[in-house]
Amino acid sequence: MFDCVFCKIIKKEIPADVVYEDENFLGFLDITPINPGHILLVPKEHHENLYDMPDALLAKIAPLIKKLAIAVKKGVNAEGINIGMNNERPAGQLVFHAHFHIMPRFSNDGFRHWRGAPYKKGESSEVASKIKKFLT
Ligand code: AMP
Ligand code: ZN
Repeated sequence: MFDCVFCKIIKKEIPADVVYEDENFLGFLDITPINPGHILLVPKEHHENLYDMPDALLAKIAPLIKKLAIAVKKGVNAEGINIGMNNERPAGQLVFHAHFHIMPRFSNDGFRHWRGAPYKKGESSEVASKIKKFLT
């Protein structure tokens, strides 16, 4: 919190190109966009990642992500939008204040989907069971 770059942006201690602000959230341009118009949407309260965010805050953020996605799409004439969130270092999180990436995409922007690989025979049901154990 003390040294959190997004808390500093929220407190206006460092500058950012803010596109959206309300009581609970701030939306601003990512300083190194994958394409111009790439936005970060952050809760004003400091929470490290998705797991730490209260459900009530998450319920409020979903319609906002949609609203910003549509504004970004129209604002930069994007052909598509990716929504992303990196949680924890192995998943690519670099700033440990929860944030959603809203990323404009173009058919010729050169980015590709992550490469997937099919399950081995019988593996998928095993994996599904392991996950379902934590959802009951
Ligand atoms: P992540 O890997 O999901 O933690 O992404 C952190 C993002 O924050 C990166 O895309 C950075 O470009 C962005 N970022 C870091 N510092 C700033 C800043 N001062 N203003 C705007 N975006 C920032
Ligand atoms: Zn913070």
